Amino acid sequence: MAYEILNRFIPESKYKTKAPYHMIPQSITIHNTWNDAAALSEISYMTNNANMVSYHAAIDDRYAVQAIPFSRNAFHAGDGGNGKGNRTSIGIEICYSKSGGPKYAAAEENAIEYVAHILKDKGWGMDRVKWHRDWSGKNCPHRILDEGRAQSVRNRIGARLAELKGEKVPSKPSAVVRDYLLNGDSSPAVKILQESLNKTGVRPPLDADGIFGDATEKAVRAFQKSNNLLVDGIWGKASQSKLDAILANLNKPNPPAKPAEKPKEDEEVKEAIVIGSSADYGSAEILSIRTKTGIYPKRGLPDNRLEHVYLVGATKDGIDAAKFTVLSGGTRFKTAQKVEEYLKKM
Ligand SMILES: [Zn+2]
Repeated sequence: MAYEILNRFIPESKYKTKAPYHMIPQSITIHNTWNDAAALSEISYMTNNANMVSYHAAIDDRYAVQAIPFSRNAFHAGDGGNGKGNRTSIGIEICYSKSGGPKYAAAEENAIEYVAHILKDKGWGMDRVKWHRDWSGKNCPHRILDEGRAQSVRNRIGARLAELKGEKVPSKPSAVVRDYLLNGDSSPAVKILQESLNKTGVRPPLDADGIFGDATEKAVRAFQKSNNLLVDGIWGKASQSKLDAILANLNKPNPPAKPAEKPKEDEEVKEAIVIGSSADYGSAEILSIRTKTGIYPKRGLPDNRLEHVYLVGATKDGIDAAKFTVLSGGTRFKTAQKVEEYLKKM
């Protein structure tokens, strides 16, 4: 499995909402997206919405996409506007965690590689690797935690880090640096290949077991032959890009119907929490978790009329909404108090 690093940095105009503070990173926080979208979709969604949720990079089975420089903070840890997680930790989202399966497995493998490289570059040890849960108690990364694999994922990162530092000779050539597959391989990437070949009509369909055996090689050779590729039975870049093109065509019957996936929200925002300044972020965050409502700076609100707006430190001026819940107290402490009282009554 290999990934390509893509930079899709948010525009600086978004710093105020997504990454307002300079940061000297102290740790890496691992998340699961709890969603089934690809990394590029996750990043474009995160970048284009106006709420104060952000993270540094999203990783899927093919790409590691960075959106925020590690020298700026991101709001991913759920521990408040001044929380260590939100202010000093690099947030990494592993994609496809909702349904799991081979794409998720490959994404997780790539995330392990990515995290190990950051640790190596910064001269950090495993103590710098955190789960989202460590900061806020949220059950995230849900798939890793629910499957009881927290320790095993840590072990895999640790082993890879040791390899990168030259402390341990890898027992077999690392699959990560290879960009081809061949007979004898077994990995999530092989499983993806088998499933993809089946979609092109391989008969009888391959057993998608992740093991590149003779049947898979035969199918690869047949694929290469019928697509005028070099017939060597090795699955490399040329074969993959041909397959990608074929699969893209197969999916065409419903062409541009789906623009960018909008993973976590409905088309139209109906409720919002509006903060006065970043000092109110901590209070707003708790309210946001309890009410499942996004946090917005006033100037970042959507254009449509809103049904309900919580004011946390902000005033009504210039906000078009049918209903307001005013939790602004004049100072951040009084505002925090009002939010707390409101939550108690919920
Ligand atoms: Zn998380």
